[in-house]
Amino acid sequence: MAKWVYNFGDGKADGRAEMKNLLGGKGANLAEMASIGLPVPPGFTLTTEVCTHFYKNDCNYPKELTQQVEEALTLVQQRTGRVFGDSSNPLLVSVRSGARASMPGMMDTVLNLGLNDQTVEALAKKSGDRRFAFDSYRRFVQMYSDVVLGIEINHFEKHLDRAKEKRGVKQDCELLAEDLEKLVKSYKAVVQLELGEEFPEDPKAQLWGAIGAVFNSWMNQRAKTYRQLHDIPEWWGTAVNVQAMVFGNMGNDCATGVAFTRDPSTGTNEFYGEFLVNAQGEDVVAGIRTPQELTIKARKSHGSDLPSLEEVMPNIFKELLSVRSQLENHYKDMQDIEFTIQQGKLYMLQTRNGKRTAPAALQIAVDMAKEGLISKSQALMSLKPDLIDQLLHPTLDPKAKKEVIAKGLPASPGAAGGKVVFSADEAVRRSKDGDKVILVRIETSPDDIHGLHAAEGVLTTRGGMTSHAAVVARGMGRPCVAGAGGITVDYAAAKLTVGSVTVTEGQILTIDGSTGEVMVGEVPTVPPQLSGSFGIIMEWADEVRDMKVRANAETPADARQAKEFGAEGIGLVRTEHMFFDGQRIVAMRQMILATDENDRRQALEKLLVMQREDIIELFKIMDGMPVTVRLLDPPLHEFIPHTEAEMASVAKAAGVPLDRVRRRAAELQEANPMLGHRGCRLAITYPEICEMQARAIFEAAAEVGRSSKKQPVAEVMVPLVATTEELKLLKGVIEKTADAVKKEQGITFTYKVGTMIELPRAALQAGKLAEMAEFFSFGTNDLTQTTYGLSRDDAGSFLPEYKAKGIVEQDPFVSLDPDGVGELITMAVQRGRSTRPDMKMGICGEHGGDPASIEVCERIGLDYVSCSPFRVPVARLAAAQSALKTQGEKAKQSSTKATKPRVQNFGPW
Ligand code: PEP
Ligand code: MG
Repeated sequence: MAKWVYNFGDGKADGRAEMKNLLGGKGANLAEMASIGLPVPPGFTLTTEVCTHFYKNDCNYPKELTQQVEEALTLVQQRTGRVFGDSSNPLLVSVRSGARASMPGMMDTVLNLGLNDQTVEALAKKSGDRRFAFDSYRRFVQMYSDVVLGIEINHFEKHLDRAKEKRGVKQDCELLAEDLEKLVKSYKAVVQLELGEEFPEDPKAQLWGAIGAVFNSWMNQRAKTYRQLHDIPEWWGTAVNVQAMVFGNMGNDCATGVAFTRDPSTGTNEFYGEFLVNAQGEDVVAGIRTPQELTIKARKSHGSDLPSLEEVMPNIFKELLSVRSQLENHYKDMQDIEFTIQQGKLYMLQTRNGKRTAPAALQIAVDMAKEGLISKSQALMSLKPDLIDQLLHPTLDPKAKKEVIAKGLPASPGAAGGKVVFSADEAVRRSKDGDKVILVRIETSPDDIHGLHAAEGVLTTRGGMTSHAAVVARGMGRPCVAGAGGITVDYAAAKLTVGSVTVTEGQILTIDGSTGEVMVGEVPTVPPQLSGSFGIIMEWADEVRDMKVRANAETPADARQAKEFGAEGIGLVRTEHMFFDGQRIVAMRQMILATDENDRRQALEKLLVMQREDIIELFKIMDGMPVTVRLLDPPLHEFIPHTEAEMASVAKAAGVPLDRVRRRAAELQEANPMLGHRGCRLAITYPEICEMQARAIFEAAAEVGRSSKKQPVAEVMVPLVATTEELKLLKGVIEKTADAVKKEQGITFTYKVGTMIELPRAALQAGKLAEMAEFFSFGTNDLTQTTYGLSRDDAGSFLPEYKAKGIVEQDPFVSLDPDGVGELITMAVQRGRSTRPDMKMGICGEHGGDPASIEVCERIGLDYVSCSPFRVPVARLAAAQSALKTQGEKAKQSSTKATKPRVQNFGPW
């Protein structure tokens, strides 16, 4: 019989941490915590397969489910010694969602389930606190009505406000038991009025209602948006966890809290968290009461006058410390935990790998490896390469003048400035118009997720480091200042005020998520300073990776940046990009518009000087590292003038009649420019262009070779080759020019001539091309375009739809298609190497900076990847991970053959 329900509790569990796909993250970790002996309230998990079945079968459950839930409930009753619905010793449960990947706050939860007019009396008697019992009941009726019955929450809020008014109090907690008892009645009357039926008193009916609501919430709008943003497939489904309730709000010997086993912001190895005495979990996250620190040290450093857990409940604190190290030792990662203390006893309600900032992730990985908790390889594998991008965030220029108007908590690092908006929708609207925006909210909720994504940074006036805004912004790598209590936000008037300062919607604000400062106007930022752990991780990555990482760069600034980030050469100089701006484009257009060789040679003379100077600079910067200079590959439409005014100005600058410009522009017009007269085709029709470029490269090589210790490594690359004849012709021109320059300059230099493989025909002919080409560089942008028959220019108009419909998993221009384009590359590599075994091969399309594509390149056996300078560190880490993965797989396959790992100081993986 299929197993739909998994039990946990009492030191035992049916599930394990590895079963996240089936039990969801929460369920799998509850099972794991229970089986390693941590104090977990007993419960059971309905698997994600129930959810999939539910949606596949018109919202019906598998037929065995009812019985399996009954049996699981009986076990919870035995484990707790309580009975569901019993009027003297009732079992109360929570019903929570739990998908494979954490989706904080996106789906529904029901707490205190099992309360009704009888069981509430028993709860009052057992706890000795009638107020507590009716407060729980009131919360339950409200939550259940909202989540399960779909009644808007403001119907209940009205009654709550009226009750407080009547009693003459401000806070919910000041209401008396009798007020709450009356409130429950009013709430139930609301249900009767809204639905025309009674609030369900039967705990079993309540349970099935809540289970259904949680499964339904998998498809709510918030969850859908979150899934889209985080690439979580719909078919995963959610699990449902039903667990015995424990109460953190039963008195002053009760508490509830959340903690990270290390600081999620900096990664420091310090216990970090918040708690509230006499409260339920939701109260900490909601940010309504100011939470207290866990440790004395944190209390002192944050200047809080509220006592820490270490002071209030020293024994529980000690127990929690031991749970902390038990969890880290077990999971070998920083954990994000939720706990409740009920009448002096600690219960663990959740653990999961904690979300952290990029600097914290690196710090934690390095520290854990140094502490011996994990190996260096595990440290490398624990990091998502894209996280490195976040490290490269700008910070405020320390020299800049700034007017700090308020201070909040430094919730997510990095500085950002932009126009203030007060709603998520407005953030999206303005960012679509190209504005940079700062989203300002009193507090955020999961409904604001699209706004958080669209904004450059987030500022809230309420809530702590674990509030929704803080957690979500940290995960997205957005700077965030949370809980800036000095600021008053007026949504209706679309303004914020701090003292005498008022900022209205559209005015500019800068926030610093590393210090918590809020400033008026745009404060200049500076590029990031990379921390020590960044260098260590990069060093470890370099020790294991096989593939080299080069950069695509054509300006000295890019080349310097790339070198600073560890690039080991330039894999692609797009020479046409050197002529984009200023006076340069004039000479370039002159060359394109020339109608005879003489004219063209005149323009080329000018270009030669610029080209040579540029290449000299690049050779000098790269100081003996290879520089692959590609012959011109200008999509002509990017250079020819289009409008009358442009044509007139080109005619004037080039000193040719306007009519001639018009005619030539018409001649050069192409139906699909990306497949037109570009690349080697241009050099074949006008060999003097190739000659000029080769001359620029070789004269530069001669000059740098003469003046530098390290000889430049020039690689001349021919673009868009489809036939051996094309390459042969151009290689002839290049070699002839090299010989001429050597003779003229009386100096010798070495160089290589290679080809791009960016057309399917070139991949097919790779064996023959390798007879002439001394290296291959895969231009996967064009190779993807031509393999799919998609135009790079307009595929964007329908690819999102393809992705949404699951026709392609990823945009093939972003992530290399391993089955089609990857196959062509594999074949070309094999054919090329069978002709020239030691041939160097790399990739220089955009995929060179994409971690998944880098793994494909490693598997194919390329020698290097080349990507934009800012992706170089990402590529270094991704290359290391790919190497570790493939080494691990090989080691597994031949475990009987006792293979020697490629890198000695790293254990096999
Ligand atoms: C490519 O096609 O992958 C490539 C690197 O060249 P470009 O993008 O300049 O066409
Ligand atoms: Mg190309």
